[in-house]
Amino acid sequence: MKTILVTGGAGFIGSNFVNLMLNKHPDYKIINIDALTYAGNLENLKDIDGNANYEFIKVDIRDREKIDEIFKNNEITSVVNFAAESHVDRSIEEPEIFLTTNIIGTQVLLDTAKKYWKVNPNDKYCKEYKPGVKFLQVSTDEVYGALGETGLFVETMPLLPNSPYSASKASADLIVRSYNETFGLPMNITRCSNNYGPYQFPEKLIPLMINNCLKEKELPIYGDGMQIRDWLHVSDHCTAIDTVLHKGKDGEVYNIGGNNEKANTEIVKLIINTLGKSENLIKYVKDRPGHDRRYAIDNTKITTELGWEPAYTFEQGIKETIEWYLDNTQWIENIISGDYANYYDKMYSGI
Ligand code: NAD
Repeated sequence: MKTILVTGGAGFIGSNFVNLMLNKHPDYKIINIDALTYAGNLENLKDIDGNANYEFIKVDIRDREKIDEIFKNNEITSVVNFAAESHVDRSIEEPEIFLTTNIIGTQVLLDTAKKYWKVNPNDKYCKEYKPGVKFLQVSTDEVYGALGETGLFVETMPLLPNSPYSASKASADLIVRSYNETFGLPMNITRCSNNYGPYQFPEKLIPLMINNCLKEKELPIYGDGMQIRDWLHVSDHCTAIDTVLHKGKDGEVYNIGGNNEKANTEIVKLIINTLGKSENLIKYVKDRPGHDRRYAIDNTKITTELGWEPAYTFEQGIKETIEWYLDNTQWIENIISGDYANYYDKMYSGI
């Protein structure tokens, strides 16, 4: 039996991944470790309560002793590292925790994996690896920086991150790469575009707009709203990670994207129209500092070399996502009634 250590599995993408893996691979054990920050929510995992192949441990990835104990007590065959501070706006307000979680936390996991996977220093081709082990770092297209009006991100581009969030993710990518080059730690890095779908924390664009729209609250859009992102349904991101986990070539980086470039205003108008509300709810607010203008992914490598394809069209995915939030208003209310309410007031009061 394979035992996969998933970090950050109580967050948006991590919980979708845990749910997918337990359904798709009933012979795998999944250990989910998560510090349960404001973004971690065990309600996302209620469907797998009682599954004998699943274990949750509340732990911070920066806690070296506890991470060591988890590796010591389990035959971990892969790590999929989702755990991170993930919101760009928060990284502008408070960069430090982004550096400690996203960089140092990743390094703690790498060190521990190296120790228990018996990687020999300076010998990339040593025969002592536990067979089949892999460290998979879940990264983002934001590490490449911003594109002009044309062009696509390819894996060989230099990393030019513009926010503390993307700089911390780029740093983690480089540390992961260095553990592969220097110690031979088997790894892949995936760099995905913007995700949407069920269980996304309501500070992010799509759930924020759906929720505000339902309550007929103002819809805050940064700047002129013409920032372009490439959108992918979270379940397509999860199947891509599963593909890279099983088929990815050691040491390689794979971009993940669905060829769905949309401007922020376009997305907001689509939500307004689907919910039958008025475009007068839109309120253009002061732009985010360092706001990247355009991201777009070239996914040729993962589609041609590993045979992955997204299953969702954007139209189908966004329709299902809006329906999911309509069917799960209590899930959002449980979040909004907590600390998030204070954060929201701080960010958007006086707009
Ligand atoms: P999220 O904020 O919803 O979830 C992050 C999870 O990590 C939470 O459950 C949180 O409790 C946990 N966590 C935070 N700090 C921790 C720590 N120190 N120790 C243990 N757990 C900790 O984020 P998400 O949107 O699900 O993103 C997951 C990963 O995917 C991140 O690494 C992010 O950079 C990457 N990513 C996200 C997107 C996107 O569009 N959301 C796109 C590409 C890549």
